[in-house]
Amino acid sequence: MATPLNVYNDDLKGLICLVSITWGALFYSLWELTPSWGGIGLLLISRNLFLQVLLHLSLVPALAPDWLKETTMLVLIFCSIDIAITWLGVILVPPTEAQGVLRPISAIPLKVLLLLMLGLSLGASASIATRQFNPSLIVSGGALTLLLDLDHIPSMFNIPQPIRPAHSIIFLIAVSALVYLTTRRASLTVLTCSAFFAHLGSDKAFFPLLSPFIFDITEFGPEVSYSLILVAFVLAYVAGLLKRRQNNLKADVVESH
Ligand SMILES: [Zn+2]
Repeated sequence: MATPLNVYNDDLKGLICLVSITWGALFYSLWELTPSWGGIGLLLISRNLFLQVLLHLSLVPALAPDWLKETTMLVLIFCSIDIAITWLGVILVPPTEAQGVLRPISAIPLKVLLLLMLGLSLGASASIATRQFNPSLIVSGGALTLLLDLDHIPSMFNIPQPIRPAHSIIFLIAVSALVYLTTRRASLTVLTCSAFFAHLGSDKAFFPLLSPFIFDITEFGPEVSYSLILVAFVLAYVAGLLKRRQNNLKADVVESH
């Protein structure tokens, strides 16, 4: 019987093409903006590495377990929208308003560790709600919470960029709509929102909430940050409950055949 999972395995190649085009567009614009040999060399290496990853990903549909396919699909959608919004931010925002800078290199590992721990805890909460060990929810929680910061990529290449272009409601709407339309999984959609809120809760609270179209920065107090993290954990638990219901429905369908 064709399950929804099989349906979107067939779509994975199409999605890989979409992601390649997004990355191609990004690398091309970086190339245009930083025409130094060092930059070009770095871009070529990154691009080739990425093509290698894509090549291996094309083997995933045949070899990988279902949970890995689900996670890969979710992470690819999330990264594509993140990069697309970042790219739009670089193009649409006048350079005078482009003020995003990378945090000091020494502060990055600690922040990465913090985001990973936070995201994995979200995933674990969701997994507990399913009453099963659920690697898809755990890994997705960790990956999405961390990867929202892909919107710092231009500043890594010294390209003027607006601050945190993907830390916005527009990003949240776009990514959750695409996750739902592609996977038809309410659990993954809710987990995506959970990871987004947790990430915002862990950052210093000033965000361009309508980026990449309007770059007014909204600033919150620490109580909003704590509330966002609380909301994130509630949403993660709800994602787990939805996943459990979906697993039960699947089991009922198998039994009735
Ligand atoms: Zn961030």
